[in-house]
Amino acid sequence: GLPPYDTQNVFARILRGEIPSKRVHEDEFAFAFHDINPLTPVHVLVIPKGEYVSAADFHATASDAEIAGFWRAVAKVAKDLGLDATGHRLLSNMGVDGGQEVPHFHVHLFGGRRLGRMVA
Ligand code: 5GP
Repeated sequence: GLPPYDTQNVFARILRGEIPSKRVHEDEFAFAFHDINPLTPVHVLVIPKGEYVSAADFHATASDAEIAGFWRAVAKVAKDLGLDATGHRLLSNMGVDGGQEVPHFHVHLFGGRRLGRMVA
């Protein structure tokens, strides 16, 4: 199963301002910032403010308001970055098989160029 939430994970520390980040959006439910190692011209991470290990944890235990607020923030960030006209990609790695490195649920937003076909 999933590990318990680690309050010292890097995204928890970013949320607390203990580690700097390049913020692109913040509201009641979500925080968005540029990935430190961008894989595409635009590579933003969107995270909920609550303590959720993974996508499964988030969707099973967050309130409907948190879930709606989070996904609305994802959509707003993509729109505000100008990625709706040209398209973009959303991705969330989960757990060991998913290659998740940071145990705070996050969605990658990739864009800014024509992306390759998705490969697993
Ligand atoms: P995961 O594999 O967990 O889905 O992706 C974690 C992402 O977090 C990676 O793309 C990695 O570059 C990014 N990341 C890790 N540490 C930091 C950090 O301290 N600051 C920022 N902005 N991104 C980070």
